[in-house]
Amino acid sequence: MVRVGDKLIGYATDPDVRSRGASGGLVTAVLAAALEKGLVEGVVVLKRIDEYEAIPVITDDVQEVLASGGSMHAVPVNLAKYAAGRKIAMPGKPCDVRGVIEQAKRNGVDLESTYIVGLNCGGTMHPVVTREMLVRMYETDPEDVAGEEIEKGKLIFRTKDGEEKAISIDELEDAGYGRRENCRYCTVKIPTSADLACGNWGVIGEVAGSATFCEVMNEKGKRLLDNAIDVGFVEVRPADGKAIAIREKVNSAMLKLGDEWKERVFTGIPDQERLTYYMEQFADCIHCGACKEVCPVCTCGEDSKCTMFHSLADNYRMSMYHMVRLLHLSDSCIGCGQCSDVCPVDIPVTSIFRRFADPAQKKRNYEPGMDLTRPPFLEVMLK
Ligand SMILES: Cc1cc2nc3c(=O)[nH]c(=O)nc-3n(C[C@H](O)[C@H](O)[C@H](O)COP(=O)(O)OP(=O)(O)OC[C@H]3O[C@@H](n4cnc5c(N)ncnc54)[C@H](O)[C@@H]3O)c2cc1C
Ligand code: SF4
Ligand code: SF4
Ligand code: SF4
Repeated sequence: MVRVGDKLIGYATDPDVRSRGASGGLVTAVLAAALEKGLVEGVVVLKRIDEYEAIPVITDDVQEVLASGGSMHAVPVNLAKYAAGRKIAMPGKPCDVRGVIEQAKRNGVDLESTYIVGLNCGGTMHPVVTREMLVRMYETDPEDVAGEEIEKGKLIFRTKDGEEKAISIDELEDAGYGRRENCRYCTVKIPTSADLACGNWGVIGEVAGSATFCEVMNEKGKRLLDNAIDVGFVEVRPADGKAIAIREKVNSAMLKLGDEWKERVFTGIPDQERLTYYMEQFADCIHCGACKEVCPVCTCGEDSKCTMFHSLADNYRMSMYHMVRLLHLSDSCIGCGQCSDVCPVDIPVTSIFRRFADPAQKKRNYEPGMDLTRPPFLEVMLK
């Protein structure tokens, strides 16, 4: 039996699941075991199309879950919207997890019936940018790629004929490639608001690459892991002090790097120029609504305030749609990047929303998606 707070090193007992997994297949095995023993009715998995595309599906087929291992760094989809209204287990990067938590605070998700296996995340890449990067930086045809991984700060692509090419992420980002901009300044790298927090930081020695560091965050995480151990899908042992220290050290270094990126991206705008800035940023908006559609923390549905107060007639000055959204999401925007990814006219929606939300969240010491016990601050203010 594991305990809440345990920090463990573990892996899937099935050799195939272990070798297909990103680092030991523990996450896949835990999700499959939850389905096998009826803890949940479905599991969210990424159905891989190729190296750059995958579709999230909810499956009740254990074999489909077992086949879903591996980390896809060029698939930046957010999984939070797949949680609603179902008794499921799902994997989740910190932004997926935070989206679910913010929805739960607004009664969009029942956390009692949603199990989340969190994945540490150093960042994801846009698939289109990744393809261009492969041609320009790796001199490789994207269609020849058979796999990718990140090791010691390098992004490594393996081609179908077995050749490997590695370039440091710093070099890629200096050239305008690598992680999406929002991932560079993302503030949560270990998803401590998930039920389990899993990742490869701290996995050293002979199990490096073939096991995962797993922290049990709460009772649901304990239930998930105990279940997977009971059915024989997973083996774990306590992480030693060195492993724990390395995980913390890498996390701190990543957060520090994120702060540096924040300073580079969010250069100050004088107060009197703020409105002009927002008006100019949204000047090319065609009001397609895609940024709202994909936003994992938008929970209004049909009766949304941003569309209710919006009229295209306003747009010669400033879109009310964006003004209302900026305000409404100021306590919940998690900087997941989805809005920028889908904008058909390339407006950097995420950085505009973060510029607006970040000071408000800081002032109230509120980090969305991290603490279920803290109500959204706009609700508290309006009461
Ligand atoms: C984009 C990304 C970046 C990561 N960065 C780090 C890092 O910097 N440091 C670190 O310690 N760990 C990181 N991880 C976690 C690590 O790669 C492993 O996922 C973790 O150690 C669990 O390994 P596993 O073999 O048990 O997982 P697996 O058994 O391989 O299971 C992986 C699960 O992740 C799901 N998945 C794959 N890609 C995505 C995606 N893009 N979004 C959401 N779910 C996905 C799969 O469907 C599967 O359920 C990252 C994971 C991802 C997905
Ligand atoms: S926003 Fe954060 S958690 Fe989400 S993909 Fe980017 S780095 Fe990972
Ligand atoms: S506004 Fe954009 S960055 Fe913020 S949570 Fe919504 S989709 Fe993510
Ligand atoms: S996705 Fe872009 S064009 Fe569409 S409404 Fe949002 S900002 Fe405007």
